[in-house]
Amino acid sequence: MELKIKDECDQCGTCISVCGADALHISDKLLWAKDRCICCLKCLNICPFGAIEQQ
Ligand code: SF4
Ligand code: SF4
Repeated sequence: MELKIKDECDQCGTCISVCGADALHISDKLLWAKDRCICCLKCLNICPFGAIEQQ
């Protein structure tokens, strides 16, 4: 599975708070760590901007 962070992301941090695998971080933008992700899709489902896309 691949997750794409789209330009709609406003770095609100909501997805980070639900990720139990510590796979999302904000540096100057939201970063997804594929090697940590357990593919639960909580981030995708909770994002208020629909900014995470499964590919
Ligand atoms: S919840 Fe959505 S808008 Fe907020 S940081 Fe995550 S991807 Fe970006
Ligand atoms: S799919 Fe689940 S484990 Fe992967 S980044 Fe999103 S919330 Fe974290």
